[in-house]
Amino acid sequence: MIAGAGQAGTAAAVALRECGWRGIVVLIGNETMLPYERPPLSKATLIDEMIPGPKLIVTSERLDELGIAYLQGSEVASIDRAANMVTLSNGSAIAYHRLLLATGARPRKLSIPIAEGANVATLRTYADAMRIRQVIGQGYEVVVIGGGFIGLEVAASAVSRGASVTVVEAGPRLLTRSVPASMAELIRAKHERSGVRIDIGAIVERIDSSEGRYNVVMAGGRSHVADLVIVGVGARPNVELAQAAGLAVDDGIVVDETLATSDPHVFAAGDCCSFPHRLYKKRIRLEAWRNAQQQGVAAAVNMLGKNRACEDVPWFWSDQYDETLQIAGLCSEGDIPVTRNLGARGQILFYLAADGRLVAACGFGSLGPIAREIRVAEIMISRRVSPKPEALADPAINMKDLLG
Ligand SMILES: Cc1cc2nc3c(=O)[nH]c(=O)nc-3n(C[C@H](O)[C@H](O)[C@H](O)COP(=O)(O)OP(=O)(O)OC[C@H]3O[C@@H](n4cnc5c(N)ncnc54)[C@H](O)[C@@H]3O)c2cc1C
Repeated sequence: MIAGAGQAGTAAAVALRECGWRGIVVLIGNETMLPYERPPLSKATLIDEMIPGPKLIVTSERLDELGIAYLQGSEVASIDRAANMVTLSNGSAIAYHRLLLATGARPRKLSIPIAEGANVATLRTYADAMRIRQVIGQGYEVVVIGGGFIGLEVAASAVSRGASVTVVEAGPRLLTRSVPASMAELIRAKHERSGVRIDIGAIVERIDSSEGRYNVVMAGGRSHVADLVIVGVGARPNVELAQAAGLAVDDGIVVDETLATSDPHVFAAGDCCSFPHRLYKKRIRLEAWRNAQQQGVAAAVNMLGKNRACEDVPWFWSDQYDETLQIAGLCSEGDIPVTRNLGARGQILFYLAADGRLVAACGFGSLGPIAREIRVAEIMISRRVSPKPEALADPAINMKDLLG
């Protein structure tokens, strides 16, 4: 049984069949549509001229073909671990042998005073994207609160649809959580060249209404007019179901390397779980498409008793305008940065640990070259290669020659 029919849950359901499981597979999702991918929601779903439908992870024909019982629009309300049963919000109870929690995450909310009638949105679902899409065309003023990935992607989409866009960020720069400062500066420059106003160090105090318009007001008094405010200030893992069932939770549902929770019959995968990463020797929680996909598959394999550790190198991408940002691995304080300049094609920043091992790489620029080099970096990270810094910095040296 799988609670949550997003990327991880659906990948797990399909993988159970692909791994040969012939018993019952029940996929329970509280959204009232077929499972769909979220990355397009801040990109193509907002930009495309024609209203695009959701990008489905699996069609209903494929679900039928695989014999997956998809309970659409159903919520798992509680888990009785002693009886191996879940109860749905409509009161029905279903037994499980193994349960996967793939409940994802939800947007953080701002706790500030908001004038009645102000159009304030977050972006997590297809319905959210459809709502935002209506108010980001020519003549609209859009204020994005939060200069993280989702905020910046929405800003890029809105400005390319003709809206006037301001991004306000409370921190000292954009993308503070996961992108090195010099790379964030390149991204900021790209946004400003495209017409997005960036207001850094801006702490939003309230959203006011005056003379039929709404204003996002900052501490200190300055304000930005907004027909639409999009709040992109991070996400919180959906852990309440696990917590109420007595499972260990610590910034995500706590799992071991095989994605098993503190109950060996219950697993967790994707944005909702916090897992130990062998390569980085720490517990992490990732909000990334590929992680959800890979963990869904790994959880399926392990629910079938394989006991396989998850040790994929974390990887994330973000498309903004005609450029891509890709990050492989994780860097920590003290890692040594090495810059590889690809000229008009972009730039890559590599991070070497104190022992010389490549631990992370972050690239911004044209899709082809950035994707190629980050892919090789990812292999180097997983093989624990220690490349010479001067070779990494030299764009004339083929990265593949550094694989060792
Ligand atoms: C707008 C947007 C753009 C993104 N862009 C990128 C990108 O460019 N690159 C990238 O790497 N990642 C991106 N991501 C992140 C990526 O989409 C997520 O990491 C991925 O969707 C996580 O999958 P998941 O299955 O863990 O969670 P989700 O996809 O959130 O799925 C969880 C599902 O479980 C449901 N659920 C929760 N509780 C219950 C319950 N009790 N019972 C039943 N159902 C329940 C939820 O409603 C949801 O449908 C983006 C995310 C968003 C929102």
